[in-house]
Amino acid sequence: MKVTDHIKDAKGKTLFSFEIIPPVKGRNIKELYDNIDPLMEFNPPFIDVTTSREEYIYIDRDGLLDKKLTRMRPGTVGICASIKHKYDVDTVPHVLCGGFTKEETEYLLVDCHYLGIDNVMALRGDAMREEKYFEPTKGGHHYALGLVRQIQDLNCGKYLHDVIETDDCAHFCIGVAGYPEKHMEAPSLKSDLQRLKEKVDAGADYVVTQMFFDNKKYFEFVEAAREVGIDVPIIPGIKPIAVKRHLNLLPQVFKIDLPQDLVDAVDSCKDNKAVRQVGIEWCIEQSKELKAAGVPVLHYYSMGKSDNIHAIAKSVF
Ligand SMILES: Cc1cc2nc3c(=O)[nH]c(=O)nc-3n(C[C@H](O)[C@H](O)[C@H](O)COP(=O)(O)OP(=O)(O)OC[C@H]3O[C@@H](n4cnc5c(N)ncnc54)[C@H](O)[C@@H]3O)c2cc1C
Repeated sequence: MKVTDHIKDAKGKTLFSFEIIPPVKGRNIKELYDNIDPLMEFNPPFIDVTTSREEYIYIDRDGLLDKKLTRMRPGTVGICASIKHKYDVDTVPHVLCGGFTKEETEYLLVDCHYLGIDNVMALRGDAMREEKYFEPTKGGHHYALGLVRQIQDLNCGKYLHDVIETDDCAHFCIGVAGYPEKHMEAPSLKSDLQRLKEKVDAGADYVVTQMFFDNKKYFEFVEAAREVGIDVPIIPGIKPIAVKRHLNLLPQVFKIDLPQDLVDAVDSCKDNKAVRQVGIEWCIEQSKELKAAGVPVLHYYSMGKSDNIHAIAKSVF
């Protein structure tokens, strides 16, 4: 079932959902399930599974370092199918421009269609670690917009090299990313919103935001989006701070601001156990306010261990 239909069916009630990352290649998937299991109590209508870009690794061959390109966390579509089967819940694989040719994307979408996956999140992906800027993959898309168009084409039976008339067309519901504090490469929030509008005009059905720690940023973003004619659901994506290192890491990686009160509270913690508790409490307050404002879904970035998301959901849902 489509994410947008889940939202319609909820008739204004805020839903709970979360995002997980596939395990590192070779690691047991049981750990992932152990973290999903407790969250099923809150009836997520859908779970997102991220896709990681390929990266360079160096293999020692008799003293000589061999540079190889590899994907450290493969398995997104397989995990989506497995979760769908195990928990009877919809899953949303993240599909990237970076690292994929258009052909590879088409094959991936065909797999998703056969597996009964009804939603995909269309994303550009970040630059590779070694690159300063995002370099499009040869034969791939430059921007998420191209990906949205390709998925929409497939929804109409238009494959890359063929138009196929069939009663069994794909009908993917398409999610895209939005940035309440603007995307790091965008010259301004206004121009970034125009880019978001292009994705929605091309067929994106809903938006999930980058994490934010001050709800005001989200509310202003939604207002500005509505003003430029973006009328699809805008789902807030939020994350509890879990370790002290996040104070520097999150602004550095995601180019977001942390409110001073939160910085002070985390700074005064003696250890990461206390930080985790501060993160939970902050996120509960954020969630309660967003829920009271009637957001369609509260979407949590779980990044591994889910005990903190469970504690938050217990207080909010
Ligand atoms: C909810 C969410 C989930 C995510 N999941 C993943 C994941 O699973 N894996 C992963 O690797 N990353 C993920 N990301 C990170 C995302 O890939 C990065 O933020 C990436 O840098 C931008 O992706 P995008 O889809 O927003 O790109 P785009 O929409 O393509 O935008 C990228 C930049 O280009 C600009 N732009 C767009 N179109 C044009 C144009 N025609 N000309 C000039 N500039 C343009 C935009 O303003 C923006 O600055 C996620 C982000 C979010 C918010």
